[in-house]
Amino acid sequence: MAQRTGGRTRWQSAASRHAHREGPRGCGESSETNRLRGILTMRILHCSDFHGNKRWFDWLVDEAANYDLVCLTGDHLDLFNYHQLGDQLSMINATLRRITTPLALCSGNHDSFSGGPPVDSRLFQAKWLREVRRPGVWIDGDQFELFGQNLRCVGWNAQVSSAAGNEIWLFHAPPAHSLVSAGIDGSEAGDEILGEICRAGNGPGIVLSGHQHDPRRWACRIGHTWCFNPGYDRNGACPNHISIDTASWSAVLYTDRGAAATMSVAPRGRGVF
Ligand SMILES: [Zn+2]
Ligand SMILES: [Zn+2]
Repeated sequence: MAQRTGGRTRWQSAASRHAHREGPRGCGESSETNRLRGILTMRILHCSDFHGNKRWFDWLVDEAANYDLVCLTGDHLDLFNYHQLGDQLSMINATLRRITTPLALCSGNHDSFSGGPPVDSRLFQAKWLREVRRPGVWIDGDQFELFGQNLRCVGWNAQVSSAAGNEIWLFHAPPAHSLVSAGIDGSEAGDEILGEICRAGNGPGIVLSGHQHDPRRWACRIGHTWCFNPGYDRNGACPNHISIDTASWSAVLYTDRGAAATMSVAPRGRGVF
């Protein structure tokens, strides 16, 4: 059940929810073991840039059950198929309702408009996401606590300043001028302000992003901030995705060919998780 306190939501999941859980894939203590010891840890599934791919949304329904939290970091829709917007919204709404794992979403540039030429009103500031919101599902502007972690969903074009060091942010565009914002083709798709915040040492402990479809790296650290971008393989049977385990502080990148890379992401500096 969710308790709303002063604009923040503390999520309390039933203990039985985790009773069947096995540990993280091949490393560290399991979330359930730690929870029994009174230590709060969790496994996070980070995906991004589904761009209306129904097969990937269906995959997510099954995969989500293996995690404590699912984070989707924008470009849920594909506006290159704007004429199919209604169908895309119906499909996404219906599919996300089948997910029982706590779910956090932020909007991307394919999900939200705040100006420019007239568009469907459901796209104005990603208004359509409000239909997805329910207890255990957080969207743009929401801050919440889950298993001891403070999370924030930052919408496309939202203003941000400094973060608490122990926060996890969902933020579609990665910090600018970093290995996760730079493309293998030399392009740059990062957010300048987020980049400055992180470089000044005022960023969150973790920022989960997408937007740059072919990043040079899937993970990097700026100051004390760990930055992630799974990238986008449009032909993948499943989306690229990242598993983060806060028991072992390990992160694994998966493609449709399986585990592709592993990284230790222990918090440093002022980030205390
Ligand atoms: Zn995208
Ligand atoms: Zn994007």
